[in-house]
Amino acid sequence: MPVNPQSTGFSVRGTAIHAPRRGEIEILEDAIIGVDGGGTIRSVTLPWEPGHALAAADHREDPKALTLARGQFLLPGFIDLHIHAPQWPQMGKALHLPLDEWLQKHTFPLEARYADLAFARQAYGSLVEALLANGTTTAVYYATIHDEASLALAETCLSKGQRAFVGRVAMDDPVLCPHYYRDPSAEAALAGTVAFMEAVRNLSGNEGGLLQPVVTPRFIGGCSEKLLEELGRLAHETGAPIQTHCSEGDWEHGLALERFGKTDTATLAAFGLLNRRTVLAHGNFIAGDDLEIIGASGAGISHCPLSNLYFANAVFPLRMALEKGLRVGLGTDIAAGPSASILDACRQAVAASRALEDGVDPRLPPGRRGRPGAHIDFAEAFWLATAGGADVLDLPVGRFLAGHRFDAILLDVHAPGSNVFLWDDLDKPAEAFQKIIYNAGRANIVGTWVEGRRVSG
Ligand SMILES: [Zn+2]
Repeated sequence: MPVNPQSTGFSVRGTAIHAPRRGEIEILEDAIIGVDGGGTIRSVTLPWEPGHALAAADHREDPKALTLARGQFLLPGFIDLHIHAPQWPQMGKALHLPLDEWLQKHTFPLEARYADLAFARQAYGSLVEALLANGTTTAVYYATIHDEASLALAETCLSKGQRAFVGRVAMDDPVLCPHYYRDPSAEAALAGTVAFMEAVRNLSGNEGGLLQPVVTPRFIGGCSEKLLEELGRLAHETGAPIQTHCSEGDWEHGLALERFGKTDTATLAAFGLLNRRTVLAHGNFIAGDDLEIIGASGAGISHCPLSNLYFANAVFPLRMALEKGLRVGLGTDIAAGPSASILDACRQAVAASRALEDGVDPRLPPGRRGRPGAHIDFAEAFWLATAGGADVLDLPVGRFLAGHRFDAILLDVHAPGSNVFLWDDLDKPAEAFQKIIYNAGRANIVGTWVEGRRVSG
């Protein structure tokens, strides 16, 4: 039953599951969630609370009410902190190459095609629809260096109703960026970025700020010093969010060390590109002072576990980052990560953490093989995918709380094509949810809402 925003809002009754605190799953059985006409949760009422009977009566009389069936669960929408939107057509290709070759031989030629606006619109329409169907309600995107096509990505998100942070990519380094795909100068990259940010803010329909433009130096090695400096100044002047890559793999991590004698983290800080609104992709090789610098700046990290396994030469030390109090969420890193599903990212985050804990080289004795205590579990992974990501972006989503925006997905274990098999007498609710995190997929996501508007399913 489709539910659309009306001035009067609507309510949902059934089992809602969220992770308001890291490591803690809350199963809200027979919850009644009231959503106002603007897409904000006005109340979450549980059976033992005094208002439940009244909320239940209102729910029964509400023609737009949604009542969950057995096997259906309401979850917060997923937050994907790192996506290269133009790479969508190459997802699943050339994963055998090292990162620099992958970029030069496949990725840059593909991204250059976005000079063609019709191609851009087609690819971005397909991507945003697929992500919404996979339950990604908030997406943080890199577009390309093309002003018009980058704006087309923003327009696509807006028309399809996805909450998004979109960056027009800035990259002007003549050595690492090919002649056919780079900003001709730092001035041109800056002017394009400024115009793009202005255009996104002024998009008709974006008065509520569903879309936010992001200052996007692609990575330190891809930018001149002048460009890094100018983008740092722009971010400072506008207060806009920033995204870039940080200490991803041996090659990328080595570029700043070689050029500036400093890590990516220290270099970004020196250029004014590290603050509470920065999202750093990867962070695999952060160590020593980097942790303190990132922690003090408040910057967040997008952990991209699947892409790391293909391109990063290492596993992100997630447990260490969390224990240092760094803010972390998950990213698919499409297309270096060949999956559009944040549920896949959850599973990969768990698996990668287990590999880091145990180690992977059987020739080493157990005591020297891994990093003890590095693992996370499904509950922490789910938190990263929802509340953790929301916290990185300082967004009031990711939890079912009054005052938060209603960004949610409806998950059905009985949906056609489901790989989730529950046994009533064997699976307690918390165990059933474990199975959902490990086994559910796109087929199980039968509805997606952003700000109270049904945008998929
Ligand atoms: Zn990336």
